[in-house]
Amino acid sequence: HAATGPLPPGDRIDELVAAAHRRASSHGDGVVADYIPILAEADPEAFGVCVADVDGGLHEIGDTRVPFSIQSISKAFVYALVCDALGHEQAFDVIGVNNTGLPFNSVVAIELNDGHPMNPMVNAGALAATALVPGGTAEDKWEAVRSGLSRFAGRELVVDEDVYRSEAETNHRNRAIAQLLESYGRIRVDPLEVVDVYTRQCALLVDARDLAVMGATLADGGVNPLTGERVVSASVCRDLLAVLAATGLYERSGEWLFEIGLPGKSGVAGGLVTVAPGKVGIGTYSPPLDSAGNSVRGQVATAYLSRALGLNIFASS
Ligand code: GLU
Repeated sequence: HAATGPLPPGDRIDELVAAAHRRASSHGDGVVADYIPILAEADPEAFGVCVADVDGGLHEIGDTRVPFSIQSISKAFVYALVCDALGHEQAFDVIGVNNTGLPFNSVVAIELNDGHPMNPMVNAGALAATALVPGGTAEDKWEAVRSGLSRFAGRELVVDEDVYRSEAETNHRNRAIAQLLESYGRIRVDPLEVVDVYTRQCALLVDARDLAVMGATLADGGVNPLTGERVVSASVCRDLLAVLAATGLYERSGEWLFEIGLPGKSGVAGGLVTVAPGKVGIGTYSPPLDSAGNSVRGQVATAYLSRALGLNIFASS
């Protein structure tokens, strides 16, 4: 295992990315999500791994250019945009930072906490965050989300209309969560319009390479290493990464931090983004999920890379 410290040379990173892909490929566990009907059509064998370093280097193997819907990973980047607009104190008060210990779409978690959404990575907190995106109308908020996430990726992201429609037709639970938050005064704009923007944001198409670049932007203090554009401030990145460490892998966040030692965020379409501050973003895509909704192969490949590249933020040697 590598010690912590500088990254190895680029060709060595390429080898380790290939080794991570090879090792994780033998893991056949997990189930492709089907509660959003169209997600069930994903190819369970698709698997890509990409590491983007903060100097703009890309190291990728496998299906890194296969597009999929970003789903919950959008929550991290929308929260960053909201933090940039609201500031540290207000983001803390209004959305919260503690893990619920309950599934991502839990209604009980809201009820147990007097209507507080708890954190921005569960659906309640993500809907509360989307409601706070700057913009006078739902259309303005949507454009702020789409263009903001595109700046993180360094290219214009577009919505998969089929995924959007499939989720919009079946997202009764998210509508209930948004209306419950409205009843507690936690959402102060039309809750169903908020759900609509949120559903579009979840249907934005990315690939594993985009996720790596988006993660590298967070690793780089908010500056996209490919475009050189500052997307959010360094303090927003710091705050977001702390929240991700506590909440990014749903109710498995503690296990993930224990094994991998890095902030990350998963999505139910099979994407996973991981951030090693000051070093790299890692993007993976593999649709079969564990019971909490996290990509199985993505976790295995990322665990390997965290060890092999010496990325664990808690390791002193
Ligand atoms: N759009 C999905 C939902 O709200 C995202 C869930 C996820 O990726 O965890 O159910």
